[in-house]
Amino acid sequence: MGLAVPLTLALAIAGGLFLASRALGPIDRITRTAGRIGAEDLSRRLALPASPDEVGRLAATFDAMLDRLEEAFARQRRFTADASHELRTPLALLSSRAEVALDRPRTPAEYRATLTGVRDDAARLTQLLAELLTLARADRGQEALAREPVALADLVADTLAALAPLAEERGIVLAADALAPCVILGDQTRLTQLLINLVDNAVKYTPAGGQVTVQLARDAATALLAVTDTGIGIAPEHLPRLFERFYRADTARSRGAGGAGLGLAIADWIARAHGGQIAVASAVGSGSTFSVRLPLAP
Ligand code: ADP
Repeated sequence: MGLAVPLTLALAIAGGLFLASRALGPIDRITRTAGRIGAEDLSRRLALPASPDEVGRLAATFDAMLDRLEEAFARQRRFTADASHELRTPLALLSSRAEVALDRPRTPAEYRATLTGVRDDAARLTQLLAELLTLARADRGQEALAREPVALADLVADTLAALAPLAEERGIVLAADALAPCVILGDQTRLTQLLINLVDNAVKYTPAGGQVTVQLARDAATALLAVTDTGIGIAPEHLPRLFERFYRADTARSRGAGGAGLGLAIADWIARAHGGQIAVASAVGSGSTFSVRLPLAP
């Protein structure tokens, strides 16, 4: 008894310690990895061998969470870098205009031309900053949307009336086609912005003599808003990325037209914030259709 009891006890303790360290080893590894991860190095993973027990599931969930965090950080960095780049271009333009004008004495007409250019650059900067702010606020979930009944047909008619001079100036026929009466719960200002972004693009990327048509249809539960143009169209390889921030299908042309590639990202956010979605169909040379589905008010 004197020998067997302490021996059994020692064996039990050793066995317990061995089992505990085997079971808790992976948790220790999770703790150490978590301690080493900072915002600068999100590439570490636990990569524990897959096992169906609790620790295995914890490790897999931990790695999946790191994947999402790494992706979110990368997206944020890209956004900041792209935003700085976009702000730099009009700023550089603005200061070089001033430099050139101050180079030597100019005629009043030349000063006037320079000031007009400076005003246009400043307007572009203001527009860009407003777009960046909208997206930054949307990311933080701070952009509160109203939820009031909006009669979409009226909204479309009013917006088209406001945009008619712009279309006319560019020699484009802007028309509404069959506006079905439908009411959705949403934010009038944001929905107007969505429509302006789509119609503005349609006008921008359609040569003079073309046509832009806005349709509003409905089924039992959804309103379907479609903006169709007879413009330059979009190549198929661009379509999947068109709603990404700063994405431009035709860099040279869209830069000339003044866009930073944020209009569609904002339109996409507005559609999703209303429980809807936006889609595009396009053929190079014959035009594009952007369609937005929005749930009707109950
Ligand atoms: P931008 O401000 O550059 O117009 P958007 O996000 O509104 O940015 O659009 C992204 C890109 O999608 C544009 O640069 C353009 O290449 C393409 N695009 C958008 N709408 C149209 C359209 N109706 N027809 C042809 N291309 C379009």
